[in-house]
Amino acid sequence: MLKTIELPSDIKYEQIERCDLCNSSRLREWDKSRSNTLYRCDDCSLVFTNPRIMDVHQKDKYLYTQNYFTRSSRMKSKMLNARKASYESEIRVLGQYVAGGAILDVGCGTGNFLDALGTGWQKSGCDVSSYALMEAEQKGIKTYKGQFEDLEFFDQRFDAIYFRASLHHSYYPSLCVKKAYDLLNDNGILAICMSNNIEGISGRIFKSKVKSYEQPHNFIFGLSTLKKYFSGNDFKYLNHYFPYWGSGYNSFGDFPNLLYSYFKYLFLKITNSADKAKHYDFSSPPFYGNYINIYGQKCE
Ligand SMILES: [Zn+2]
Repeated sequence: MLKTIELPSDIKYEQIERCDLCNSSRLREWDKSRSNTLYRCDDCSLVFTNPRIMDVHQKDKYLYTQNYFTRSSRMKSKMLNARKASYESEIRVLGQYVAGGAILDVGCGTGNFLDALGTGWQKSGCDVSSYALMEAEQKGIKTYKGQFEDLEFFDQRFDAIYFRASLHHSYYPSLCVKKAYDLLNDNGILAICMSNNIEGISGRIFKSKVKSYEQPHNFIFGLSTLKKYFSGNDFKYLNHYFPYWGSGYNSFGDFPNLLYSYFKYLFLKITNSADKAKHYDFSSPPFYGNYINIYGQKCE
């Protein structure tokens, strides 16, 4: 997994005073993970990094470097096969709701998901990473550089907007979901896939040390908070599932690993060393419920 990156001391942070989901100011320190402190909203349970890196360009510079996209753990053949299997199952599920058309992948990275979609789609992607977009363009994808909530799409509309492992990177998920609604054609699909999930088994046991939470993330969502983002923006909730079985990421070794990690986690807690730098990279193993895929539809 990606090692915790030590950030320069002059990097600027911002303190969050209001919950992105419900605007409450009743925010409470909740847990620590890697070099981050996480807060939780008393009113809606949204969990988020606080303080967080203020400037997305600094994130681009220090956290979303070429190494982030090409790190060895992503490039192992098992991981490449797992990602391919994951794409195939996501494409099958997306196909149940929309047959093709214009699609926007928010946080498209190097464009691998759009590339796997095949024909029948007009493919667009946005990302904050210069390196990633350069790669995506070589795959014939129309690209937009910047944060989704700040980008101008003029009269372009989409039949599907896809956040794949990206909404938790955003600074204002509520603005993103609202903007997705405005950019979708009637009956268009909003898919939030491979989102981190705090409400699964590992999230409940390991809290912010759930494997799906990483240092660059601004939020950890859950089924209940994602559904609230949908209902608060007039999306009709369609479906959700937890990608794990048959994903290629799963293994029977995950069961003993979960037990081992649980006892290690207890030991770190008892010795009060879970938040020390040498344990920054401790996280739960792959497991059912670490990630969530959820689908909504724009209905006028
Ligand atoms: Zn809230």
